[in-house]
Amino acid sequence: MLPDEARRWRTVESALESVLTGYAYEEVHLPLLEFTELFSRGVGEATDIVEKEMYSFADRDGDSISLRPEGTAGCVRVLEQHGLLFHQTQRVFYRGPMFRYERPQKGRYRQFFQMGAEAFGMSGPDVDAELMALGLACWKRLGIDTSVRLELNTLGSNDAREDYQQALITYLERYAADLDEDSRRRLSTNPLRILDSKVDKTQEILVEAPGIMDYVDSAGREHFDALCGLLDDLGIRFEFNQRLVRGLDYYNHTVFEWVTDALGAQGAICAGGRYDSLVQRLGGRSTPAAGFAMGLERVLLLFEQLNLQTRSAVDVYCCVLAVEHQAYVLRLADRLRGLLPELRIRVHAGGGKIKNQLKKADQSGASWAVIVGEDEVSRQRVTLKTLNSGEQVTIDQVALIEKLRSGGNGRE
Ligand code: ATP
Ligand code: MG
Repeated sequence: MLPDEARRWRTVESALESVLTGYAYEEVHLPLLEFTELFSRGVGEATDIVEKEMYSFADRDGDSISLRPEGTAGCVRVLEQHGLLFHQTQRVFYRGPMFRYERPQKGRYRQFFQMGAEAFGMSGPDVDAELMALGLACWKRLGIDTSVRLELNTLGSNDAREDYQQALITYLERYAADLDEDSRRRLSTNPLRILDSKVDKTQEILVEAPGIMDYVDSAGREHFDALCGLLDDLGIRFEFNQRLVRGLDYYNHTVFEWVTDALGAQGAICAGGRYDSLVQRLGGRSTPAAGFAMGLERVLLLFEQLNLQTRSAVDVYCCVLAVEHQAYVLRLADRLRGLLPELRIRVHAGGGKIKNQLKKADQSGASWAVIVGEDEVSRQRVTLKTLNSGEQVTIDQVALIEKLRSGGNGRE
């Protein structure tokens, strides 16, 4: 990732970070490598991820190790291992690259970056709603909220999901011959995922398929109704999408996705839900949990597509008229950095004509050039040039600091 993009990336990542910490979620750092078994158990044998997307290899002992394809399993592993789940609640977030062997295309990569939030020990719809409010706050902070929408579904309890799954299989078996190959295979491995098929013919068959709401039990419905009520009260708009399922088979009750129409087939920028059975599945005591993960590359693509501006890399470009003033300028720049830490200050290196230095200043995207010459040094004054207008003034350091402080940063 080159500097221009990395700068936009940093804008996005730090905005997301500040929203997450604003909700008092605490960061955990997870390793890139885990035993493969963590994912085959945690994500599920019958999922795309485990079936065909993991980068797995045997280490020197012959143990099977995988590059992490997602963060939730590792997060549960680490909190469980350190005794942080039993009789406690936790709200944490993680970030970092994930690895999946996929067909690379726009918005879909083999190494991609996720930022995820997880909440443990809380079983109610209030925390589900919080996770969605948190997502919306992220999109608002980035200015992309009007281009994304929230899709919501419920899978009910594990029992309800089993019953529904059975009904779905019964229905789909009648059309087995017309299903696409993946879906046919999933009939026996991961039938819910068929709902998510991108194949038109399969989607046509699904139009008449049984809907999950008819199978959700009263507790599941109560959870879902309470969640919808909370979202309404919070003014968070959502669409009920009965076809929405997650790729991982540990979800129950709430599942949701934030999607945009602006990125084609890779429209999901964030996905999550409730996964009350995962902790136990990974060897811990039963602990309710819910969370989500967002794909930073997709968020960034949307951010760029909407032409949202990030500030430039440089605010102030300091020029030097003569070599003997180099030290003076370096000291001045450090003083400015100390007093105005929010400004990005670059000192010209390598000398050369002032005209060329100012050209560099312009190219850097800076708002101002500070020019130091003989006269300036002897009188302890500097020339400040506003690069947009070309206007320039010669002032002392106190006035310089005041002007830079009040001048905002970045240019139009
Ligand atoms: P998809 O249906 O697009 O493959 P998924 O269901 O596999 O997504 P999750 O495992 O839920 O995705 O991951 C959460 C988010 O991470 C996705 O919504 C997406 O934004 C992002 N993501 C997933 N896989 C990739 C990838 N290969 N490249 C870039 N981003 C990804
Ligand atoms: Mg996927």
